[in-house]
Amino acid sequence: MSERNLLMIPGPIEFEPSVLRALGEKTRSHLDPVFMKAYGRAIKRLREVFQAPSAQPFVVAGSGTLAMEMAVANLVQQGDKALVVNSGYFSDRIGAMLERHGAAVTHLRADPGALPTADEVEVALASGGFKVMTVTHVDTSTAVLAPVKELAAAAKKHGVLVVVDGVCSVGGEALEMDAWGVDVAFTASQKALGTPPGLAVLVAGPRALAAWKARTKPVASMYLDFAEWLPIHEAYEAEKPAYFATPPVNLIMALDVSLGHLVEEGIGARVQRHEKFAGAMWAAWEALGLTPLPKSHAISAHTLSALYYPGKVDAALVKAVGAEGVVIAGGLHPQLKTKYFRVGHMGAVTKSDLVTTVSAIERGLKACGHPVELGRGVAALG
Ligand SMILES: *Cc1c(COP(=O)(O)O)cnc(C)c1O
Repeated sequence: MSERNLLMIPGPIEFEPSVLRALGEKTRSHLDPVFMKAYGRAIKRLREVFQAPSAQPFVVAGSGTLAMEMAVANLVQQGDKALVVNSGYFSDRIGAMLERHGAAVTHLRADPGALPTADEVEVALASGGFKVMTVTHVDTSTAVLAPVKELAAAAKKHGVLVVVDGVCSVGGEALEMDAWGVDVAFTASQKALGTPPGLAVLVAGPRALAAWKARTKPVASMYLDFAEWLPIHEAYEAEKPAYFATPPVNLIMALDVSLGHLVEEGIGARVQRHEKFAGAMWAAWEALGLTPLPKSHAISAHTLSALYYPGKVDAALVKAVGAEGVVIAGGLHPQLKTKYFRVGHMGAVTKSDLVTTVSAIERGLKACGHPVELGRGVAALG
């Protein structure tokens, strides 16, 4: 297959050539001043991206799932109560992880494509005793966007720590960690941050660090313990050498380049671009008669779309679109997996990527025997 197909799944995504070039450069010592400077700068840039001036970023080798486990392992110990605002597959995952780490977990569930209501969350929080509440900002299995600001405000009233799974949101959706009272947010390099897979990124605010310090039992995992990583990140930010575990040098160099593009565009402008592009995609889906999983635009992600297969079309569509040169993804939510497909539109995505993708989907639908007027979706992109 040609290397020139277009990768439009919800991570990994298409990366800027300058980011990829950083991966191909000579690998420096992890104590090389050039690397120390890049790592330190990446840490500072993450505070800007997460809008968390008072927080401590952590960047470690791993995927988003490791970042998730870092949050859970440091905040939770045996017997703590956790509330999971559950919007799909990745909310189930953090729930299972919380249980592994000894928490008593309450799930607030909704139908796929929906969210628990604010009232349900309020009633659950008022029932008392929760140490943490988790929210999946964008659940990548459903493309549902959670109202983090409102949910965090509700949790704050009850003194509950707020953990946000931002793996499919950070760098694409509005997130103001400090202003909204989010205590921990995490992501992975390969989603909207625009760097190849391999980095777990977590940002912990002052209340989260205080809760970690107040633990009565040590963190069970040495690799995930803030205690190991805090001095390392403080040292690198001061451009001083430190070692706990060898950092993935080239990936961190690449992350610094990618975060440089992000802060240059401006986080506000980056989010607006995602909103504009998502609006264009929603118009295209509507013109093609495709039904999104999220039940309203108000709870629809801007980083990806999840759409039911129309009529008699099935997962063969993913292959047919692939034959047109665009890679899209099948379903992920356990209840609906075979009934829908997903299209990522985050990070370095361009208008011409959207045109190509919508056109390939039109052609794919046609190849699957679905009646479609070629060009109708593309025209609706505006
Ligand atoms: C992708 C994703 C994860 C898992 O990240 P990995 O890098 O695949 O481990 C977790 N949560 C959400 C919302 C995601 O989109």
